[in-house]
Amino acid sequence: MTEIEIPPELLPRDGRFGSGPSKVRPEALAELARVGDGLLGTSHRQSRVKDQVARLQDGLRTLFGAPPGYEVLLAVGGATAFWESLAFGVVEQRARHYRFGEFSGKFAAVTEKAPWLADPDVVDAEPGTRPPAGPAPGCDVQALTHNETSTGVAQAIERVDDALVLVDATSGAGGLPVDLTATDVYYFSLQKGFAADGGLTAAFVSPAAVARIEAVAASGRFIPTFLDLTTALDNSRKHQTYNTPAVATVLLAAFQVDWMLERFGDLAGVVAHQVEKSDLVYRWAEQRPWASPFVTDLDARSRVVATVDLDPSVDADEVNRVLRANGVLDTDGYRKLGRNQLRIAMFPAIEADDLASYTACVDHIAERIAT
Ligand SMILES: *Cc1c(COP(=O)(O)O)cnc(C)c1O
Repeated sequence: MTEIEIPPELLPRDGRFGSGPSKVRPEALAELARVGDGLLGTSHRQSRVKDQVARLQDGLRTLFGAPPGYEVLLAVGGATAFWESLAFGVVEQRARHYRFGEFSGKFAAVTEKAPWLADPDVVDAEPGTRPPAGPAPGCDVQALTHNETSTGVAQAIERVDDALVLVDATSGAGGLPVDLTATDVYYFSLQKGFAADGGLTAAFVSPAAVARIEAVAASGRFIPTFLDLTTALDNSRKHQTYNTPAVATVLLAAFQVDWMLERFGDLAGVVAHQVEKSDLVYRWAEQRPWASPFVTDLDARSRVVATVDLDPSVDADEVNRVLRANGVLDTDGYRKLGRNQLRIAMFPAIEADDLASYTACVDHIAERIAT
């Protein structure tokens, strides 16, 4: 079989469309080389590195219009480690979870395993849909997921009872609208919407969440030092982390926040751009007889990760194989979903023009492989 060559004029300028990690902007990498020389390899306890941590914290506060009293916490280990911190340090007795894909399910599995907590109260929804949040009597935490990265579904972020609202915003933060007053811990790794590298979690923490963290720590519960959120709070207030952070991640995220503010003004400006880009992708899918958006509820359709089902006549694995051979990367559907599907990241760093080129590439391939 002869390989399909995509004409160069159809190709995107940047072929990175993976849902995790995000494309890192080449300009940010160049800036890292410029600014990082003299910073990487120096002590993270000294002011020059701490200034960059503070710059990231301030930038995030500005971008999100953080309400008074909310702190920006930084924790080492990414969202996966942060789930453990939340189970140790924020959930008092029982958590309500909404499970509608891989990542929301993973946090539920963490609180389920924790022997010091009651079994979680889990509300399930079919992949491609989202469960509405509802009151959860007996639960002291509501665990929401802003963007379920595995299915391309966005959850509404709202307060429905007195429980603390914890939001895994790892892929949604910076691309989806949010009113932080409706949240108590809005947390995200920095390698998705903020186009940095992995390993660090940022979180907006409300005064109520700080009080809970302190109360749980004072209750005598065993909390591993590495996962202790009182330690993370202490360090974050001094623009540090408990152990050595990836300084390159701090810098890349700080560049990305500054770039968002410069180019789009504020979070609403970024979101407006996300709406444009995602409309482009979903409209394309709707107009092809062999494609359709997987998520049918328009309000649930993500503005940062698009999932597009293909007709059996167009094999998604083959489309992705040809794309990859032509330098267009990582739009495989989530394996465990088992669908004939493309999953296309539209994170803030990814340009509208490149998404338009992506769709042209898929058209080009589909015309040639359709059976
Ligand atoms: C990627 C992702 C995670 C995992 O993040 P890590 O930094 O790799 O731990 C968790 N939740 C969501 C929604 C994600 O998209």
